[in-house]
Amino acid sequence: MTPDYRGECMCGAVQFSFTGQPRFVADCTCASCRKAHGASAVGWVGVQNPQFSLDAGDEVLAWYQSSPASRRGFCRSCGTRLLFQSQKWPGETHMALACMTEPHDLVSTKVSFLEELPEWVGVVAKG
Ligand SMILES: [Zn+2]
Ligand SMILES: [Zn+2]
Repeated sequence: MTPDYRGECMCGAVQFSFTGQPRFVADCTCASCRKAHGASAVGWVGVQNPQFSLDAGDEVLAWYQSSPASRRGFCRSCGTRLLFQSQKWPGETHMALACMTEPHDLVSTKVSFLEELPEWVGVVAKG
């Protein structure tokens, strides 16, 4: 099946894709995402694992256990944070929305963990 959406890291070594429609597209402002990505918020697109495919870069994709329940996948070559999997959302893979190959029609429709948004985040993330 031809994938409907593709994504990759900054250096292009890690490439992934998914088919069908995502379960969600959301911006996360939780403390863990913010720190892991060095960003005020992180856009995510989430799919069921059977929809997801790692197409290249298995040898450079590394995983970091970011909490007892969760792990984050990143490219060892360029450092781009790409993937998230958690026992809190079993059977799902979440991909960094910023790394999806454009053009695409994925649009974030909600903000998760807005209650964790710190005071220092400025107007871009707050909207
Ligand atoms: Zn890379
Ligand atoms: Zn988060």
